[in-house]
Amino acid sequence: MAEELNPFKIAQQQLDEAAEVMGLDEQAHAILREPMRTLIVNIPVKMHDGKVKVFQGFRVQYNDARGPTKGGIRFHPKESIDTVKALSAWMTWKVSLANVPFGGSKGGVICDTKSMTPQELEALSRGYIRAIGKYIGPQVDIPAPDVYTTPQIMAWMMDEYSNIVRHNEFGTITGKPLEVWGSEGRNDSTAMGGLFVMREAAKTLGIDLKKAKIAVQGFGNAGMYAYTLSKKLYGSNVVAISDSNGAIYDPNGLDLAKLEKAKKETGSVTGYEGGEKMTNEQLLESDVDILIPAAIENQITGSNADKIKAKLVLELANGPVTPDADKILHERNIFDVPDFLVNSGGVIGSYFEWVQNIGGYYWSAEEVYSKLDKIITKSYTDMMATKKEYNDKGKNITPRTAAYIIAVSRVAAAMKARGWY
Ligand code: NAD
Repeated sequence: MAEELNPFKIAQQQLDEAAEVMGLDEQAHAILREPMRTLIVNIPVKMHDGKVKVFQGFRVQYNDARGPTKGGIRFHPKESIDTVKALSAWMTWKVSLANVPFGGSKGGVICDTKSMTPQELEALSRGYIRAIGKYIGPQVDIPAPDVYTTPQIMAWMMDEYSNIVRHNEFGTITGKPLEVWGSEGRNDSTAMGGLFVMREAAKTLGIDLKKAKIAVQGFGNAGMYAYTLSKKLYGSNVVAISDSNGAIYDPNGLDLAKLEKAKKETGSVTGYEGGEKMTNEQLLESDVDILIPAAIENQITGSNADKIKAKLVLELANGPVTPDADKILHERNIFDVPDFLVNSGGVIGSYFEWVQNIGGYYWSAEEVYSKLDKIITKSYTDMMATKKEYNDKGKNITPRTAAYIIAVSRVAAAMKARGWY
């Protein structure tokens, strides 16, 4: 049978597996299998040639039992309602595992930002906020950046929302530039959090990070900072990196200045001088200790999981490992730490930004990183404790299922306390 690659079906399948192991109440399970609210909007934008083009956008609010929903916005030519639904479910588990007072949501617009002018992009960003404006707000639903959306886009969106409510509402969008009260440390908080998890997982597996060889898939916000911080924090050797055009590999380590030059001059890391060019598939299967998928979903599947050589997989992207691959990696004793723990630094950084916006009192980058470290390290420790608890009961569960059990129990308990079932 062909492997299921629909991200929302995958998210449901992961929930079902955890629900069975933990004996989740079936009413709670039924509520948690579907999003609470799904919006589909059509946004007319006057393009530079004077003609109107209509863009389709989505906002999915999955569950708000534990607080206002929180989730990024993707601008992507292949955006789909099922991807947004899946990402909103994963956000729900992510904020619950991190134990921050939010529910989960996600948004997206089908568009190709690379072929749009800055004016068109601004008009689309503002149009999207007008379309979903009634359903967001600092105590309702708080968007943030994701793939192909930037701090500048967040600033336009915050400005548009402030126009609608007729006062400045900085706390309604996170991931903003510092000039309009973004948070110190938010830019690299996703990768920073992922690297705190890497430090803990390396301790679990006895990997020496100074000697470890690392491959990173993706050279965007998540991947680029994962690369620079691996070197800066632990002196690790990143030997392979990629973008949508392909990968570059050098066993002696890749040089940041040369990578940036390649990206600037050729538009891709594959323009790197020296090293060996390879495909994204080859990067995933390369001979490294740690593999960090930091690009898109469905990268490690039933067809390549048996070829992965890394001892540790850190899912910095959302949904890079399919359920079939999860089983294979687990059987092969490859330690795969799930996305909604590894990349939760992004939403934890966003949480800090929201708290600062609401309180009007701002923190240093050091304060942000140290608070982030505490929260994400606690999530890792909780996940390992739950894994051990179930192992001791004779259930050999994956790190993902352990993390699901914690996250789902908290949301179910909040729904129960509120009388939803
Ligand atoms: P980005 O747009 O900044 O970068 C995406 C990178 O992936 C680019 O280098 C692009 O070239 C590469 N890419 C695209 N398609 C690819 C393909 N088919 N094969 C290989 N590489 C490909 O996005 P980002 O913010 O870095 O997000 C990357 C992942 O991390 C996504 O799954 C996102 O949901 C997740 N994430 C990001 C954040 C954040 O704060 N940025 C937070 C949580 C999760």
